[in-house]
Amino acid sequence: MKNFESIDLYAPLKRALADQDYTTPTPIQAQAIPPAVAGQDVLGCAQTGTGKTAAFALPILDFLGHEKPRAAPNRPTTLVLAPTRELAIQIGDSFRRYGQHMKFHSALVYGGVGQAGQVNSLRRGVDVLIATPGRLIDLMDQGHIDLRDVQIFVLDEADRMLDMGFLPALKKIIAALPQQRQSMFFSATLAPKIRELAGTLLFNPVSINVTPKKTSVDLIEQRLRIVRRDNKVSSLTELLLTKNVTRSIVFTRTKHGANALVRKLDKSGIQAVAIHGNKTQNARQKALHAFRNDQIKVLVATDVAARGIDIDGVSHVINYDMPVEPESYVHRIGRTGRAGQDGIAISFCTGDERDELRAIESLIGQKLKIENPEERFEAPSGAPKQRGGGGGRGRSGGGGGRSGGGQSRSRSGNPRSSNSNSNHSFGRKKKPGRPASAR
Ligand code: AMP
Repeated sequence: MKNFESIDLYAPLKRALADQDYTTPTPIQAQAIPPAVAGQDVLGCAQTGTGKTAAFALPILDFLGHEKPRAAPNRPTTLVLAPTRELAIQIGDSFRRYGQHMKFHSALVYGGVGQAGQVNSLRRGVDVLIATPGRLIDLMDQGHIDLRDVQIFVLDEADRMLDMGFLPALKKIIAALPQQRQSMFFSATLAPKIRELAGTLLFNPVSINVTPKKTSVDLIEQRLRIVRRDNKVSSLTELLLTKNVTRSIVFTRTKHGANALVRKLDKSGIQAVAIHGNKTQNARQKALHAFRNDQIKVLVATDVAARGIDIDGVSHVINYDMPVEPESYVHRIGRTGRAGQDGIAISFCTGDERDELRAIESLIGQKLKIENPEERFEAPSGAPKQRGGGGGRGRSGGGGGRSGGGQSRSRSGNPRSSNSNSNHSFGRKKKPGRPASAR
């Protein structure tokens, strides 16, 4: 597939893509859109920056274009789950852009803000619901959301969901979905636990993997800097003051650490803003806005808060603290090297963080290049290891080995394998009676 014109997509979507000057699908789009439009389940291994949002948003909008959106109050026909509110908001924006020539109702549901506005928008009618798991469950429990009509379900950044301890919430949500549905599952990594969850959700999916070879991560120069515990701040200050560090995201392990670091940088005359789970939604949006508009050059973030930040032109990602979960390393450095640009990721590593370093190197299958090999790691301090994740709830215990699909669903119990009556995907394959407006 060479261009969007050659894909069988609802005409108003093609117009919207042309409006954005999107002519060529990215690899994940090229591989996912045709089967997804035909109603097949999709298992996509892809990070942000690969164009994966359009890979699921376009098939959903195509479905709505052909099915006639009905905007039933509180009963969406399509559901997209995202781990963080920032990502949910970005996905909502993408739906609006791609669906600008269509009529449909979307609703966004995420925590950290009052629920009244969200409840009202659900009441007015919803076709596409974009939600984070916690708030979705709150609103389901209060009777504001009924998932029984969902025909297309997307789980975005599944790996992150598990890292954030959302497995029990996911099980509850999945159990509330009808078994007859199309599912799309996206994750930056396909570790065994993730595969297991995918296995419980998907039926005979098309598997797409755009991660290991030519991804934006290949454009990132990855370096390691050996630092002493007591000179981390000065080493960072020095680095941030160098000319080529034009826009950087600095990762800390905890929210408290992020706040403290911002104060220390401030003392050195470096203006930085922290973004983490304790900040209000408004404060986070303001910080991102200032960063995007070059009013501040340095964003200090925790893993959870930085998830899904889609800002081009980040010259450096600095791991001030090594991530505790090796997968987070890949997510963090993916904030640079976007949109085909080069980026530099520098990880600070103390003698206490060598275990984390080993785990990362084994995950990515390469040794990080040490910037200052003349430096020696100092002896570990012996301090107990602290798990933070900056607002995450840590890994869920007890998730391993169990079905991620909720009590009522198992692979063998998937009705699509035994009963093709009223199978939504079959209806979509033929696209009967395309509306005149599709042309
Ligand atoms: P995503 O991975 O979905 O976060 O997308 C990464 C960025 O690529 C976003 O800024 C999108 O607007 C942009 N994008 C997605 N698909 C295309 C495309 N086919 N052509 C050009 N830009 C795209």
